[in-house]
Amino acid sequence: MSKIRICLDAGHAGKYNRSPVVPEYYESVMNWKLHLLLKEHLERRGFEVITTRADLDADPELFDRGATAKGCDLFMSLHSNAAYSTSEYEENGNSHKDEYVDRVDVYATLDGKAHSLAKKLADKIAEVMGTDQGGNVKTREHKGGEYYGVLRGSAAVGVPGMLVEHSFHTNARAARWLLDDANLDRLARAEADVLAAHYGMIGGTPIEGKAKADAWQMQEYIKRVNPNVPQSVIDMIPLYLSEGAVEGIRGDIAFAQSCLETGNFTFDGSAVTLAQNNFCGLGVTLGRSGESFGTPQHGIRAQIQHLKAYANEKELAGVKIDPRFDKVKRGCAPYVEWLGIQENPQGKGWASGADYGEKILTILSKVLAVGIKRRLGDRTLRRGDEGEDVKELQELLTRLGYALNADEKFGPATETAVKQFQSDHGLTADGIYGPASHKALIGALETPEPETKPEEVPTDQVYILMIVGEKDKLDAIRAEHGGELAMML
Ligand SMILES: [Zn+2]
Repeated sequence: MSKIRICLDAGHAGKYNRSPVVPEYYESVMNWKLHLLLKEHLERRGFEVITTRADLDADPELFDRGATAKGCDLFMSLHSNAAYSTSEYEENGNSHKDEYVDRVDVYATLDGKAHSLAKKLADKIAEVMGTDQGGNVKTREHKGGEYYGVLRGSAAVGVPGMLVEHSFHTNARAARWLLDDANLDRLARAEADVLAAHYGMIGGTPIEGKAKADAWQMQEYIKRVNPNVPQSVIDMIPLYLSEGAVEGIRGDIAFAQSCLETGNFTFDGSAVTLAQNNFCGLGVTLGRSGESFGTPQHGIRAQIQHLKAYANEKELAGVKIDPRFDKVKRGCAPYVEWLGIQENPQGKGWASGADYGEKILTILSKVLAVGIKRRLGDRTLRRGDEGEDVKELQELLTRLGYALNADEKFGPATETAVKQFQSDHGLTADGIYGPASHKALIGALETPEPETKPEEVPTDQVYILMIVGEKDKLDAIRAEHGGELAMML
């Protein structure tokens, strides 16, 4: 999927549009902060974001700011509004005062292309800000074109745009709410989520599903980052996958989370110990050492169940052993990114530290990078496996006379060849290439082959050496084969 590009415009430069009722509030400063936060949250969700101002004081022309959006999917100008009349007046038979105006207006471009998104944003912003009079989508026309200069600019470059009024800074409640940086962050997150849903970008990495890393990759990873990792930890790693599969939860994500929670199973600075079999800090709060489980399997099962509590609202497949399962608001964090309370749109989650989910994903990507180039013998191979090591197996079996196509896929033909090899070498012919088969294969390859007769020029080898320019080795072959080689060359 190609990236969605958003152009964000912070309305007004410098210190501009002071609130008449909350003097600390300047619209321009709020716009500036909010657009930076929104940029960050959009980028986390996979958007590409450009902005119209180099800094708060930079002040390009309105039209030019809108036209900056050229090539983008959307232009968004951020503001808070002002109502200017201070006297009371009648409206729809009610007494009315502009100070009371507290609603979200989103002005969408006349092309109508941003209209449905603008409506969703208006409703969400009104909800998050708790405005008195809700949210609306509007258009504003002037002489047959856009009324707002920035929207004239974005329309001129063919980009649907909107001007978002985050309620009115002439309303004291709204202005005070917007002065709080934590509120702005919540607002930015909520807006980014609306955009992500609208453009069909998933909110993050689903916790539910099939693991992408295998046990060998996880074991290799932990051995690399913690050379003193206890053998019991290495042995239990396959349980992440089997327990995860039972509940439809990605066991590799659980493993990456355990690495984070236990300091790569060093338990340095961790509230839990290895003996507790609690590899995810379950039940750890200030002054509490957390839950304990009888076996590593139960500890991992509880973690998987706890992740499932966050990931979806499906019934547990197994017997519930997570003592904290019911404390979770089911399905509040379907994505790893949302496990962190700060990143979760509902303000719920597993942990309160910033970027908790992002840290898990960083570990996961390193686990997945392990063994891109696997060597034969690193893992047990069976039908359905793929990879460099399968290709190596196919090539070596071919060399031993079990002709195979080296396509890196362990299919029926490879299985048949492995079975044949196994029975030829007195092994159980189960077609699974494990340590015993590997040992036998290496042994078979080491058996000295009959001496090369002079006419058997190793042509493949010669060509490879020529291509890579290995002159010394070529000379050695030349010395051995003399005349025949000269003819070839
Ligand atoms: Zn404004």
